[in-house]
Amino acid sequence: MSQFASVNQEACIACGACNSAAPDIFDLDYNGIAGVIYEGDKNRGITAIGEELLEELQEAFESCPTHCIQLATAAFA
Ligand code: SF4
Repeated sequence: MSQFASVNQEACIACGACNSAAPDIFDLDYNGIAGVIYEGDKNRGITAIGEELLEELQEAFESCPTHCIQLATAAFA
């Protein structure tokens, strides 16, 4: 099943946990706010995350203290 991810950046507290858990999926901007950078997604949640990274994605999801990482089985609109 495909998995898509996006960060609700208004709730991100710039802790960096997602980037530590899944550096190929999440990166932080100059303010420390996280976004999905996987294959140029630009936090739009329209790029299916590669199967080899799904474990890391789950780890990042669970490590986010504000639960602002959103996952879905279809692309975000
Ligand atoms: S783990 Fe959550 S709060 Fe921390 S930087 Fe990532 S998205 Fe933001």
